Amino acid sequence: MAISDYDYNTLLEKAYEELPEKVKEHSRFEAPIISSIIQGKLTVIQNLGEVAKAINRTHDMLTKWLLRELGTSGVFESGHLVVKGHFRQHQIQEKFIAFLNQYVICPECGRPDTKIVKEDRVNFLKCEACGSRHPLGGIKASTRKVEKKFKPSVGEEIIVDITSTGKKGDGVAHSGDYIIYVRGGVRRGQKVKAKVTGAQGTRVFAQAMEILE
Ligand SMILES: [Zn+2]
Repeated sequence: MAISDYDYNTLLEKAYEELPEKVKEHSRFEAPIISSIIQGKLTVIQNLGEVAKAINRTHDMLTKWLLRELGTSGVFESGHLVVKGHFRQHQIQEKFIAFLNQYVICPECGRPDTKIVKEDRVNFLKCEACGSRHPLGGIKASTRKVEKKFKPSVGEEIIVDITSTGKKGDGVAHSGDYIIYVRGGVRRGQKVKAKVTGAQGTRVFAQAMEILE
């Protein structure tokens, strides 16, 4: 028995309506592209204000991060960030991606629909897409001390607290401004001894050796 075209279309429409919101809205997140030019002894990031808006973070926060990561000083002025020294676009973009990975992208579902919320003086990255929550390291000077203490080098053994599980099933831990991805089937809440296998910007990769707690 054939169904008429009318019925078929109605059924399709109905099926679409019944899809969960997440499936309908699903599209790959594309990071905004930093645009910059070198002018004399300075580098001008022309769209910093726009970029900050696009990722729903303050230009202040992004400025602080970039200046620290690039190891320079600068001024934010009417949407532009003017920094001392010469930096290539890809260098700045790379730092910006590190910022996204740490302060914007949800480590659980990979979506950028997140907010930073503060509870009991601890900042969390709260995801509006999947509802997960992850503690964040700050960008303030006080956390830089922690960062200095933890200089990951390949082969080094570290002890970390797993605070969440990443997209690919890796355990995720934080130390200062670093995110440590631990392989080897570790779970949230565990204290783990791990060996550093690699590092990329503020991301550190490690292999679990022993579960301590
Ligand atoms: Zn999420």
